[in-house]
Amino acid sequence: MRKRKKGKARKQKDNLKVRFDKEEVNKIKKNKNEKPQNIERLKRKVERKQNKKYRKERKKDKNKIEEKYSDISRKRRMKIMIVIVIIIALLFSGRIAWIQFVDGDKLKQMAYEQQSLDRAVNPRRGTIYDATGETVLAISSTVNTITVNPNNISKENKEKVATALANIFELDYDTVLKKVKRNTSIETIARRVEKDKADELRIWMKDNGIDVGINIDEDTKRYYPYNSLASQVIGFCGSDNQGLDGIEVIYEDELQGEKGSITKVTDANGGEIEGEGENYVSAIDGNDLVLSIDATLQGIAEKYLKEACIDNKCTDGGNIIMMNPKTGDILAMAGYPDYNLNDPYETTIEELKGTWDSLSETDQIKEMQKVWRNKAIADTYEPGSTFKLVTASAALEEGITTTDKEGEFCCTGGITIAGVRISCWRYYNPHGSESLREALMNSCNPVFIGLGQEIGVSKYYDYLEKFGLLQKTGIDLPGEAGSIFLKEDKVGPIELATISFGQRFEITPIQMITAVSTIANKGTYVKPRLVKQIIDSQTGEVTEVETEKREGVISKETAEGVLSMMGSVVAQGTGKNAQVQGYSIGGKTGTSEDGVDTGKYVTSFVGVAPVSNPEVVLLITLYNPTGEGGHQGGGVAAPIGSQVFGEVLPYLEVQKDNVSEEDVKTEVTVPNVVGMTIKDAKKALEEVGLGLDYEETEEDVSEKVVTKQTPVNGIKIYEGTNVILEYE
Ligand SMILES: [Zn+2]
Repeated sequence: MRKRKKGKARKQKDNLKVRFDKEEVNKIKKNKNEKPQNIERLKRKVERKQNKKYRKERKKDKNKIEEKYSDISRKRRMKIMIVIVIIIALLFSGRIAWIQFVDGDKLKQMAYEQQSLDRAVNPRRGTIYDATGETVLAISSTVNTITVNPNNISKENKEKVATALANIFELDYDTVLKKVKRNTSIETIARRVEKDKADELRIWMKDNGIDVGINIDEDTKRYYPYNSLASQVIGFCGSDNQGLDGIEVIYEDELQGEKGSITKVTDANGGEIEGEGENYVSAIDGNDLVLSIDATLQGIAEKYLKEACIDNKCTDGGNIIMMNPKTGDILAMAGYPDYNLNDPYETTIEELKGTWDSLSETDQIKEMQKVWRNKAIADTYEPGSTFKLVTASAALEEGITTTDKEGEFCCTGGITIAGVRISCWRYYNPHGSESLREALMNSCNPVFIGLGQEIGVSKYYDYLEKFGLLQKTGIDLPGEAGSIFLKEDKVGPIELATISFGQRFEITPIQMITAVSTIANKGTYVKPRLVKQIIDSQTGEVTEVETEKREGVISKETAEGVLSMMGSVVAQGTGKNAQVQGYSIGGKTGTSEDGVDTGKYVTSFVGVAPVSNPEVVLLITLYNPTGEGGHQGGGVAAPIGSQVFGEVLPYLEVQKDNVSEEDVKTEVTVPNVVGMTIKDAKKALEEVGLGLDYEETEEDVSEKVVTKQTPVNGIKIYEGTNVILEYE
């Protein structure tokens, strides 16, 4: 499975690849160690909170079932209580006899267990790879945990030990001394310590003749080689290596592995007993995951998203999702702003950096939670005109309309529904007579309102259901939000009218792209997924994660009709800015208000390529763009579509399917080659993409000097054309 992708694509990938730089790694690790104590406290707090949150989420469904049976269990609990009371009564009456005769052996065993000192051996957490199976996105390296057994450290040595530990691990002396003096069997001094520091401690112990009471246990530490890449998808881990967000938490069971243990036999005070052995159970490492995310595609998405958010001054950020409509694979899922996975408690937002340390713990957490949040799945928005694709699909499938019937509709600048006039966005200059294709190209509201009315509420809601818009997609990430639609029986003609052109309801970006992927996949819905393979750490066995499909949401013919119209939107309509030379791109733009009367807008572009057989579906969502470019999808979001597709399609080696004469022939300026040798002229012309033509003879003429060229220098001609040379 870890196959190498060959050729051109491979090369591009290497360009992006940030090498695992040792110095950089050390810097990150060092920074972590130097973090002030309040951050440590803060981390713990968040970890507890996150853990609680996800545990709660995971148990929710279980609780539902349990509630159902709670009546039964209440009765059962009563019975158990009665039995316990009887047993306690019996125990008391026969206590002495019990201890002396009945269960002496068992008690002895219990005492033995109390005296045993158990220390866990941590497994190596599974590695997370990108879609190529070779780019590592998350990996665990070995570090050490330092613990002490205070009862095994003699009184006169306590201060000496505390000083050494505080010095080596840069800890507060008083805190360490307190732990060393405590009357407990085990205390943790430092976690996730680098090997060189642990070695320093080993040498000190040897030099000072201290061989008991201080333990150095191997542990693992999570490292993310690409820092912020796909941060909101991958998530991060806590100090105990437990996943706290993203893939790290949702696949906790696969990644974590099983703990092993070292059991030492100790006396009642926790001191080791000479001669008694150690029982060692080795840990089982966690399984590896192969994501659907391709690091190169993710990098492309992040680069253009960041640029777009900055250029358009998007105050609430943005996101880009890229999906393979055939497999449901999420190829990229980018959010901006993001955070550094190696330092998840530190802001990466420039404006916040200056004042960061003066913020309270609570405010820091609040800020970080904003960037941990994966808005592409966790936040809903009003899709606006991109949703006309769903209305068009339903109308075509129901046979209400066809794509190209000339003059089928007529926009008069608005439409009256149940006595209420709803305007077209171009009410001041109505679209007039148009076919469905033209209506989609114009994004004409009244046409889609009219279609919605003809489809009717009940049928319309059937399509919402079939396109997966009434339920969560079930993507393998924590915190997915559901959509917000009016209940079907609350939908009157006016409500249906607004839904038909994408307003007054909210869905998540992942729901939107999955619905459009269904169209791109010729009518078959595929559930989106982020993990495509799980690799067993013990056997190396690869389990393919199955894709879930639902056929026949719309027919192939309907899907092809909608795709073809999407092609027209980009070729000539409101999506013109999304064009990419050489490829047929389809798409639809959308703009809507973010909430009611907020003055904030959400601008989006959904695109497919190539139109005839889409390999990639792209959704760009920008929140509250306030730049000079305005907030219209066609002007703001569509150009990003062009940029992203422009890099993604060659990388995926998608065949060019829109190669017209003009596309291929780029114009170049003819250079001056008069006075050069034929050999040098050939070089100069080839450099700009031109060929050459000259009279060849039996003898070698490559050293002859050019006396004339046609065309002359400075003229613009098409790339690949020949320049005719004459020589002396
Ligand atoms: Zn119109």
